[in-house]
Amino acid sequence: MEREEFLLNPSSYKATLWLDLEDIVRFENYFKALSLVSKKGKIVFSDFDDTIFSRTPQLSEDRFEKNRWQAGNDLVEYTIWFENFFQKYYNSEMVVKEISDKTDVILTAWRVVVQKWKLKHTWLENKNSIIVDSHKYKPRAMLSYFLENNIYPEIIEFNDDKAFKLLEGFKDLSFLLKNVIVLNNVSLSKDRLNQVWDIQTITIKNWKIIN
Ligand SMILES: [Mg+2]
Repeated sequence: MEREEFLLNPSSYKATLWLDLEDIVRFENYFKALSLVSKKGKIVFSDFDDTIFSRTPQLSEDRFEKNRWQAGNDLVEYTIWFENFFQKYYNSEMVVKEISDKTDVILTAWRVVVQKWKLKHTWLENKNSIIVDSHKYKPRAMLSYFLENNIYPEIIEFNDDKAFKLLEGFKDLSFLLKNVIVLNNVSLSKDRLNQVWDIQTITIKNWKIIN
């Protein structure tokens, strides 16, 4: 029997959607069925840090400027203490309402407990949220969310300050789903911290960039 073609090049599954061979074999027929299902409506995912909430006040402080990445994490965890950190930097007035109001699911990366506390302090904890280990897993997380919830959106909108870094993953996702994915690369204002400064957009349809 002749082997059917995979929908995507198998290496793309791994490189952009982080699925291993076992997942691909397991899900390939499902993906094929999924691509034929009729799609409905729009769903909006948004990142949290620097998309719904500005980290400018933190990052402009000397102590954060000098301690990036792991050193910054250690500073928060062992010197400032988490509770003080959330109290000082996270509150509902500073939420970027223009983004949060239209968001269906907050899709953010990093440590689950920390991100959950940020959502609690900004009064966004009642919104649906997905927390992944790393930015690169966001397209895969969306795919899992659709499969788990039987949602097949015609349009996916993704707001993120690093949206374009995931272009390849979202091209593959749009090809699997046969739908439209709108990537909004969000830049927040440095002066009015709960305001958007600029949004750049790339629209993808069935793997192709159409704008
Ligand atoms: Mg971000």
